[in-house]
Amino acid sequence: MATNNNYKDFETLDPKDWKESKALMHQMVEDAFNYIENVRERKIWQEMPEAVLSSFSTPLPEHPSDAKTVYKALQETVLPYPMGNIHPRFWAWYMGNGTISGVMGDFWASILNPNLGGGNHAAHKVEEQVISWIKDIVKFPQSAGGLMVSGGSMANYTALAVARNAKAGYDVRKEGLKENNLVFYASTEIHSCNTKAIELLGLGTKGLKKIKVNHDYTINVEALKQQIQDDKNNGLRPICIIGSSGTVNTGAIDDLTTVANICEQENLWFHVDGAIGAIAMLSPKIKPLLKGIERADSVALDLHKWLHMPFEAGCVLIKDSVQHKSTFSLIPEYLEKNTRGIASGTDWFSEYGLQLSRRFRALKVWMSLKEHGSERFGRMITRNIEQAHYLGNCIANNNDLELLAPIGMDIVCFRYNPGGLTQEQLNTLNKEIKLQIEERAIALPGYTTLNGNYCIRCAISSHRVNTNDFDDFVSNVLDIGNEVLQNSD
Ligand SMILES: *Cc1c(COP(=O)(O)O)cnc(C)c1O
Repeated sequence: MATNNNYKDFETLDPKDWKESKALMHQMVEDAFNYIENVRERKIWQEMPEAVLSSFSTPLPEHPSDAKTVYKALQETVLPYPMGNIHPRFWAWYMGNGTISGVMGDFWASILNPNLGGGNHAAHKVEEQVISWIKDIVKFPQSAGGLMVSGGSMANYTALAVARNAKAGYDVRKEGLKENNLVFYASTEIHSCNTKAIELLGLGTKGLKKIKVNHDYTINVEALKQQIQDDKNNGLRPICIIGSSGTVNTGAIDDLTTVANICEQENLWFHVDGAIGAIAMLSPKIKPLLKGIERADSVALDLHKWLHMPFEAGCVLIKDSVQHKSTFSLIPEYLEKNTRGIASGTDWFSEYGLQLSRRFRALKVWMSLKEHGSERFGRMITRNIEQAHYLGNCIANNNDLELLAPIGMDIVCFRYNPGGLTQEQLNTLNKEIKLQIEERAIALPGYTTLNGNYCIRCAISSHRVNTNDFDDFVSNVLDIGNEVLQNSD
């Protein structure tokens, strides 16, 4: 039998011609950096034409094609139709822009391609170090447990699972839920991922009591205390309060110190959904407003929001690492550790969360923080807050514009309101303005509804945006508002 030792003829998924492949990669790097450098020159967003849409319904490719041809398809059908969030004028939902060192980190993460489930290798140390830095940022002790996760949703889910197991008073892992009487608390402004988490934890939506908010959209602590007492009197078991350090609608920060006090008095788990605001501990302007976060039992952070990491990057911290581990650790024989070699080490990440195989998402954070330093990230956050107030002033100083909520950190909710229109008319008008701003590729503001009023919502978490962008945006809102109004007469 002929054995073929000629590597060139041996089929693998590596390039046949490394030289050619490298040339293509160099071209891609060149194009990629130009793509970011020139982001302002392209449309922030555009609708995909039919021809492009139909290219996404071709059948499974059975046979190889040239890598250059594949790249051409990417250039023609994907690159011109971005979501828009790397553009400075993207203010929808809540997203970051990405960083170049973040891109390089993701690139090397895929080249190295380690599995962060555990093991004795450098990537594991990198993730440990990033988690350790994040503990410092939110003033958690180094003894706390921590895990990099996909984002805020998984971070909240992981923390709430630990909260449930720690406070149930019996072994939930073994017994399941004995009685369905455990209750979590949060304000009505809480992010929906917490509701989903509590449903998945077996408590149902009724397991999350939503407490009314004050005028500034922070949790009403009197109502919170009352609800806890009522629930106890009715045989329910309060176990956890979720505080917000930046709500998704308006950026409101709950009074975390008071919530911490209530948790202490009532022996409840104190969790902070810090997806937006926890990283703002880096800004001297916001840090004092977050006082009390260091007293939390757990904090969820989102690093692909205000730390600008490329998606996905979140982090959860649990102050009591033993409770963290006992919620998730399960070691079958094929995952047993050795005292030496690749399978050694005590703290495998797979014992602290749901995932076994995990990508190397810490590398982009590690490289970005090393390159820029935490203070520069803090300055970017502070500048966004100043920009939010700049935009807020433009709105407050114009008779045809109306702020609809206090500016929470970097989130501005407003509408065009020239007077004399009903709520319904204003809602329709502002929806139209927001859509035209998008379709004319002027900017991508977000939206929400507060007390029945449709708002144009700007979450200003861009390290690329400047004040001219807001001047231009405001003048376009006024022009379009006026135009739509004229045309509807
Ligand atoms: C974005 C957000 C989440 C969810 O985070 P993902 O990264 O999108 O999973 C949770 N809470 C708040 C307050 C958020 O803004």
